[in-house]
Amino acid sequence: MPNTPPPSQAAPAFPVCRICGLPLSEGEASLNRTWHFDCEVCTICKCHFPNPQRISECLDTHVVISHITCFSKSKIEEIKNKVIPITREHVTALNNQILTMRAMLDPTPSDLEVLHGTLRDLQECASNVKFILELTKDKIRISDSQEYAEKVKTERKAKSEISASENGRKATLQAERENPELRARRKAIEGIMNTFNFTREAAEAMLAKQTASGGPKVQ
Ligand SMILES: [Zn+2]
Ligand SMILES: [Zn+2]
Repeated sequence: MPNTPPPSQAAPAFPVCRICGLPLSEGEASLNRTWHFDCEVCTICKCHFPNPQRISECLDTHVVISHITCFSKSKIEEIKNKVIPITREHVTALNNQILTMRAMLDPTPSDLEVLHGTLRDLQECASNVKFILELTKDKIRISDSQEYAEKVKTERKAKSEISASENGRKATLQAERENPELRARRKAIEGIMNTFNFTREAAEAMLAKQTASGGPKVQ
């Protein structure tokens, strides 16, 4: 005779967790929970994830329990790592299939639903691509024009520095032609600079001192 426990000792039938499938604890069941506290974890980042709305959505749509951003990132990773190899051939094949379905006389409602959902997502994808392409183009244009402006600025600066020193030299020579004393003064300063290894300022100061004291003393 099978040994069945008396009804009073039978484990109370608590509902099972929607995430792990094991029975809930009495406390969790009494709170009308449908999953364990401990099961509220993002399977991607492993963080505690007490977001009933998103967890329900994950359960309803049969995606792993995960933050929206973690889930999106993982999808992008899959594309990058070619776990799901999205190639141009795939896109072309998809486009062909869409066109084929469009030409079908009597597509099934479920096919149409899938097609509609896919097309809507693709439409959004296309507008995002368009937006990013425009941004990229703008960025290229901006960096091009910035580089160009920088180049022109540098060239202009170098040119103006050269012409400033040229103009300065021309002006000096012109002034010296008009006033031979200036030439004599320049020669004297250059002579002091060479003889005593002075800076221009020191040479000018020395010359000024000599001029003030009535010029070099005649020995
Ligand atoms: Zn659980
Ligand atoms: Zn996460």
